[in-house]
Amino acid sequence: MKSYRKELHFHFPVRRGLENITRKVQSAIDESGIKEGLVLVNAMNITAAVFINDDESGLHHDYEVWLEKLAPEKPYSQYAHNGFEDNADAHLKRTVMGREVVCAITNGKLDFGTWEQIFYYEFDGKRDKRVLIKIIGE
Ligand code: ZN
Repeated sequence: MKSYRKELHFHFPVRRGLENITRKVQSAIDESGIKEGLVLVNAMNITAAVFINDDESGLHHDYEVWLEKLAPEKPYSQYAHNGFEDNADAHLKRTVMGREVVCAITNGKLDFGTWEQIFYYEFDGKRDKRVLIKIIGE
């Protein structure tokens, strides 16, 4: 069995935002040379998420509205976590959207349904963040 590890680096200029990272994950699979196996993609920061869904701007807006209802950013004082930080909402939003995804690799490609795409979702930007890609297989 072979394994391959790669990190993606992010620095969003705004507090929240989405990026489709499907091509970056496929590039890592290409680099690995692995044709049959699994790829794990996880956020390495606890205020960002990795998830799979549709690359459709209306849906992305809906996520933002929905998550703001569940865990509004402001007022910061509503959260016990917000003493030295102001990012309690970011921790909660990340918990809802998820830490990681695991995808099948078949014949060297992500074995996806028609509309499946992998996204990085930043909830507390303006600083350096990382995503881990770990691939195992042969
Ligand atoms: Zn925090």
